[in-house]
Amino acid sequence: MRPEILYPLFASVTSLPGVGPRIATQIEKVAGSRVLDLLWHLPRGLIDRRFSPKISDAPCGPTVTLTVRVDSHLPPRDKRVPYRILCSDETGFLYLVFFHARADYLERTLPPGAKRVVSGHLERFRDELQMPHPDHIVSPENAASIRRVEPVYPMTAGLSPKILASAMTAALARAPDLPEWLEPTFRAQRGWDDWLISLKQAHAPGEEAELLPAAKARARLAYDELLANQLALALIRHQQRERPGRALSGDGGLRQSLLEALPFSLTRSQQTALDEILSDMARPARMLRLLQGDVGSGKTVVALFAMLAAVECGGQAALMAPTELLARQHYATIKPLIEATGIEVALLAGRDRRAARREALDRLADGSAKIAIGTHALFQESVRFKDLMLAVIDEQHRFGVHQRLDLATKGKGVDMLVMTATPIPRSLMLTAYGDLASSRLTDKPAGRGAVTTRAIPLARVSEIVDAVARAASAGARVYWVCPLVAESEASDLAAAEGRFADLSNRFGGRVALIHGQMKGPDKDAAMQRFAKGDAQILVATTVIEVGIDVPEATVMVIEHAERFGLAQLHQLRGRVGRAGQSASCLLLYGEPLGATARARLEVMRETDDGFRIAEEDLRLRGAGEVLGTRQSGMPDFRLADIAAHGELLAIARDDAKLILARDPGLESGRGQSLRVLLYLFERDAAVLTLRSG
Ligand code: ADP
Ligand code: MG
Repeated sequence: MRPEILYPLFASVTSLPGVGPRIATQIEKVAGSRVLDLLWHLPRGLIDRRFSPKISDAPCGPTVTLTVRVDSHLPPRDKRVPYRILCSDETGFLYLVFFHARADYLERTLPPGAKRVVSGHLERFRDELQMPHPDHIVSPENAASIRRVEPVYPMTAGLSPKILASAMTAALARAPDLPEWLEPTFRAQRGWDDWLISLKQAHAPGEEAELLPAAKARARLAYDELLANQLALALIRHQQRERPGRALSGDGGLRQSLLEALPFSLTRSQQTALDEILSDMARPARMLRLLQGDVGSGKTVVALFAMLAAVECGGQAALMAPTELLARQHYATIKPLIEATGIEVALLAGRDRRAARREALDRLADGSAKIAIGTHALFQESVRFKDLMLAVIDEQHRFGVHQRLDLATKGKGVDMLVMTATPIPRSLMLTAYGDLASSRLTDKPAGRGAVTTRAIPLARVSEIVDAVARAASAGARVYWVCPLVAESEASDLAAAEGRFADLSNRFGGRVALIHGQMKGPDKDAAMQRFAKGDAQILVATTVIEVGIDVPEATVMVIEHAERFGLAQLHQLRGRVGRAGQSASCLLLYGEPLGATARARLEVMRETDDGFRIAEEDLRLRGAGEVLGTRQSGMPDFRLADIAAHGELLAIARDDAKLILARDPGLESGRGQSLRVLLYLFERDAAVLTLRSG
């Protein structure tokens, strides 16, 4: 249960004075719906109002705070002219200028004869000094209400900075003084303040340097978040280790027949990865291992060997794919390869007919089917295994941690192998999986052709269509990918449908369309037409990223390539030339091209090493976006920035290890505080792994 001390933080922002439903909606857009979300919303800039010259010394440009006397009002004679108010001090005069002003309001706030403190920017208009729309107007007695240095928050349309600032002040007043969870010597060595002071300081930067990730207050808050992340992962891993696994090592018979059935031999890194996996399985502890490798690097084959090893031991294995399409593809690949062994494979893909599903379930329950292939349908309550020994999860980052663990509960001490085609930079690996063992497929299977990559402005799309026409008449199979246009799925679809219509005009029935909102059977039908060659051009939204395998495809056109992440581009490019032919990838970009987008396209032209691309991606974009947060199960940090806080992440990992070594139940004084930390960062599930939670 969440500790009571945190309740005020998890309350809705509407619990703050002055925040009603309308303002709450605006705050929710920019920060989130709870007080906590508001506190995690750190300033992006600041306005320094400490500069208070006399009028004669006041420059145009920077923010100034002036004490003036209101002399007279000059209401406009017609609406297009602003309302002006003449003010002065002993050194000179200036006009306060208001467009679309409400006279009654100005008369009230700036009565002639009164002294006022005004803060804003000065400009010169027809040789006269003026301050249009001051940010603040207060009487000298209230001068202290103007913050000398004002934080500037990321904003959303419709939300006024003043309203956000007052909500923030209220939220900060609610923030409790939390027990210290940091190790005292470490905190002292870093010179960090306690949590509450750090939080308040992060919201009250005195100068630009305090906005940087390395600033003390920000670093402390980031460290807290990273520590919560690492500790949560360590706890879940610890719990998994505690459940005993089984030592699995078969006689190799089935694997031998597979080896004989394969038309190729394993690459060196496939062999190494397989050895690592098999030796994990042979140990009595439960395996939890990541298998990383580009699309087409041969992960499925490696996984198949591991699954057969489990079957050799008399158990069952399951392979879970993120989409139905992929599950069916795996099934189609695997079935013929193990035909000779006589092993039964059951497919559970979600929309099978009732009877077929019933039958598959029965065969898994009575153990006659040794291998299950499916989507998350495999998690369902109704799915029972006779003796599940190994679970393989493909394209892992699309699933959440809980789903991962769920599959493990379908057997006793189930070994887990997680496959991902998105090479994950080491630092990100750590945040998503903790200290997880990993195997990497680094060499490509023999006979893979090179893909020529070119970047071309979208304005030249008609030339590209001509080139596609030439390739198509020579028999080529072409992917044409349309981008995800931020936010709206509807507009993504419109873009793809528009392109489909265009290309259909020219190529008639040789074009097929596939997108995420199509029904399964329609998707399959479109895929089939492309796979068979009835359609030569497949217009797609990024649904194809997840792993369609059409070996004949040799051309990949990506429209608005600048909107895609590097990892995505790399995945898409991996879809062509899979049968060893030479292939091309055309990256069409919209202009003007920003510096980051340009650098990204450059990386794509330079290399096809997925691991290098992943590192570059992290460098260019920062962690949140690397894997396309949209579908990734990667942690989305609010305060930490993996690119900037990499050093802290490593420390947090070691810290978490040490904590669990000394106090695995988090029962000591510091342990209790660490529980608060876990709840603060919503790692409730991790706390629940503690027996005396
Ligand atoms: P991944 O799962 O990593 O995307 P797959 O295991 O599906 O890759 O392999 C892609 C293709 O390459 C498949 O057609 C597979 O049969 C083939 N393949 C796998 N390993 C090798 C190898 N060592 N040599 C040649 N072809 C291979
Ligand atoms: Mg695969």
